[in-house]
Amino acid sequence: MTILDSEPIIQGLEVNGTFHSTHPINYVLKKSVRARHIRITVFRDGKVVVTAPLLTARFLIERFVSKKSSWIAKKVSEFAARPIIQNPLGIPKGNRRDFLKFKEQARALAHERLEFFNRHYTLEYKRISIKNQKTRWGSCSKRGNLSFNYRLVFLSPELRDYLIVHELCHLKEFNHSRKFWELVGEVILDYKKLSKTLRTGN
Ligand SMILES: [Zn+2]
Repeated sequence: MTILDSEPIIQGLEVNGTFHSTHPINYVLKKSVRARHIRITVFRDGKVVVTAPLLTARFLIERFVSKKSSWIAKKVSEFAARPIIQNPLGIPKGNRRDFLKFKEQARALAHERLEFFNRHYTLEYKRISIKNQKTRWGSCSKRGNLSFNYRLVFLSPELRDYLIVHELCHLKEFNHSRKFWELVGEVILDYKKLSKTLRTGN
């Protein structure tokens, strides 16, 4: 089982599959002439792809998915809590030139809003970096460094503030536990809605 950042290249037949256990798992089944084993891939957007050798019987695939269902559910929920970039928000795809153009503006905004919200939290952070990542909005390292995607300049002020507070709160709670969300909720009252918007685009 692997976790990938980007779309793998798999050629073959594609059939939409649904497996019903206690928690239904939606997955895309890809049958491949090159696959030797049944393999499950969970993507950052929550998509689950099951790759199987061309002649694998359907019940064998379902049995495999069933056995791994708790692992899949765990990965999907871990990724679901993470802000990722969604196109429905109207975020420009951007290129290197855009990155260079908006980088400093993004840095200034991140600094300003971090300082503002940290008057409440009084946490310690070190470096702030601005990155040009395809799928991630931000991150917080265990060393206390924060990073943000330069595309934050294109977000609405509400979403931008939510993103900044989300990463800021990871300095104290390095997970997506209930304690973490309570911390976020201290200043972002509608964090649930904003988190969903940032993840799904609506
Ligand atoms: Zn997070």
